[in-house]
Amino acid sequence: MIGVSVLGATGSVGCNTLDVLSRHPDRYRVISLAAHRNHVLLAEQCLRWQPLRVALTDPQAAATLRQTLAAAHCDTEVLEGESALEALAADSEAPVVMAAISGAAGLRSTLAAAQAGKRLLLANKESVVMAGPLLLAAVRSGGGVLIPIDSEHNAIFQCLPPDWRAGERPAGVRRLLLTASGGPFLDWPAAALAGATREQACAHPRWNMGPKISVDSASLMNKGLELIEAAVLFAMPVDAIQVVVHPQSIVHSLVEYVDGSTLAQLGSPDMRTPIAQALAWPARIAAGVEFLDLIQAARLDFRKPDPVRFPALRLAEAAARSGGLAPCWLNAADEVAVRAFLDKQLNFGDIPAVIEAVMDNFAGGMVEDLQSVMAADGQARHHARIALQRYVSGRLRTSA
Ligand code: NDP
Repeated sequence: MIGVSVLGATGSVGCNTLDVLSRHPDRYRVISLAAHRNHVLLAEQCLRWQPLRVALTDPQAAATLRQTLAAAHCDTEVLEGESALEALAADSEAPVVMAAISGAAGLRSTLAAAQAGKRLLLANKESVVMAGPLLLAAVRSGGGVLIPIDSEHNAIFQCLPPDWRAGERPAGVRRLLLTASGGPFLDWPAAALAGATREQACAHPRWNMGPKISVDSASLMNKGLELIEAAVLFAMPVDAIQVVVHPQSIVHSLVEYVDGSTLAQLGSPDMRTPIAQALAWPARIAAGVEFLDLIQAARLDFRKPDPVRFPALRLAEAAARSGGLAPCWLNAADEVAVRAFLDKQLNFGDIPAVIEAVMDNFAGGMVEDLQSVMAADGQARHHARIALQRYVSGRLRTSA
């Protein structure tokens, strides 16, 4: 039995992970689960999985969970606070860690899992974007492996030789082609995009995901963050990574080799495939997904992304080229802007403008240690709040 810790258990990736694990009770044991404050779903998961310990970062939610579990005679230990996430990530009883907390909140626990030498199933792309060099160094010193869960990076991983490890430039690779569904606004005119609602932005045509990544998919910032993630994980220059819009979301990404071969990974748009692949690698296990019917799919379309309607991609490319702490700033600015959009304080069309205003203040800096990253994250959030305020009160002009 292989012990698994699922961080972000109540989210979209977390629930998909538990779904895959439920199909293999003879192979995996859930050791620990963690979330932020959803004690209701976490209580259900505790009763179903009987993990040794769970964590909620919100102490009040943790107290409620303790009461619920005591009343149900469930003796799962309930930890609380940020440091509990790191303790679960490093727990020796779980050699496999799914890092599926959303946003910068997932950074410390992801690093802790890497340092502890885990098989790190990396959904939390933000930790690569914010602190790529630290994460890769932690994986190396911990002696574990990092397997990307983002469907595009997992597809690339599947198209590389089996001895490839995170942070190495794969031999013989000329380019990576990252596919993008284009999101719910693929064919919307710019004028309509400006006033898109939260509900419209979160109604992704192919993938069922949490709210933050859904909004990022709608703005194409998700693809921008993925471009940075690919550049770091596969040690490829930005110019050797092409984003290709592929509305059917069947080809999850491609690797072009110097001999003219292009390898792709195809499958239904269902996160359980990359999750199962990463859990079992190099073996294969059933994931419960619908198998691909190419006759029914009939056609696969590919086109260029539109940089005018989707300026977020351009901003991310610029941050990737700047390197250092620029992607960390970009990530923080995007988190603040998307939160404001989800809270109905900011128009969808203004998200890139707020991010651009933040990036205008970026004065350089390298990823040296966790402190430098957290300081940069704080500075960028500070500028984002100022930009947001100015924007909301109508004084910032959109340059997007
Ligand atoms: P969700 O919003 O659905 O879930 C987020 C999870 O993280 C929840 O369990 C939430 O707990 C937990 N969480 C949020 N903030 C904190 C915090 N401060 N401390 C502890 N736990 C926290 O997100 P997704 O599952 O969609 O995405 C998770 C990650 O995976 C993201 O990095 C995303 O980019 C990436 N990803 C997601 C994909 C998808 O299909 N959804 C595809 C590829 C990558 P609670 O419920 O209590 O708030």
